[in-house]
Amino acid sequence: MRQDIERIILEPERIAQRVMALGKEISEDYKNKAPLLICILRGAVIFYSDLCRAINIPVKMGFVSLSSYGENSESSGLIKIRQPLGWDPINEDIIIIEDIIDTGLTMNMYRQLLLEQGARSVKICTLLKKPSQKQEIALTYKGFDIENEFVVGYGLDFAERYRNLPYIGVLKKEIYAK
Ligand code: 5GP
Repeated sequence: MRQDIERIILEPERIAQRVMALGKEISEDYKNKAPLLICILRGAVIFYSDLCRAINIPVKMGFVSLSSYGENSESSGLIKIRQPLGWDPINEDIIIIEDIIDTGLTMNMYRQLLLEQGARSVKICTLLKKPSQKQEIALTYKGFDIENEFVVGYGLDFAERYRNLPYIGVLKKEIYAK
């Protein structure tokens, strides 16, 4: 897979360090609580499993798969739940764990939905953030700011590939232009 990567932007050691720091921050912020950490499948799964183990307070685990309606979702506010949470969010302190935020539309909509369903609080934690100006996003925890490039690895895919790369890298243009 390495030959398909133009350059590595985040090495495993750097990711691990940042994940440990985020875990510490969350542990302090949620002391005496047991937050429900919701993993956004499938891209966040590796970040999620590392982050959970960097948190030293009790957590509950939930998994959801979403798809938004892209550009149309802005006006319609629609969000499609491919695989439901299977957990009643009433009175839960929730942290949504996402791999990467670009426009933030999907996350804002999902956060709103959880609040409408009775969650006590909903924060968002993303490993990566792109510099999109589309919408203000209620982002509480962020791993790294990155450029507007298409990245894969550490859970992030292109056509379901590259998720198992231990680092995050920019995919060569010829791969997705094929
Ligand atoms: P948003 O609703 O914030 O515009 O969309 C975020 C979603 O777009 C992410 O969950 C991810 O699925 C996808 N995405 C955005 N940028 C990238 C990228 O650079 N690489 C990959 N693999 N997915 C991306």
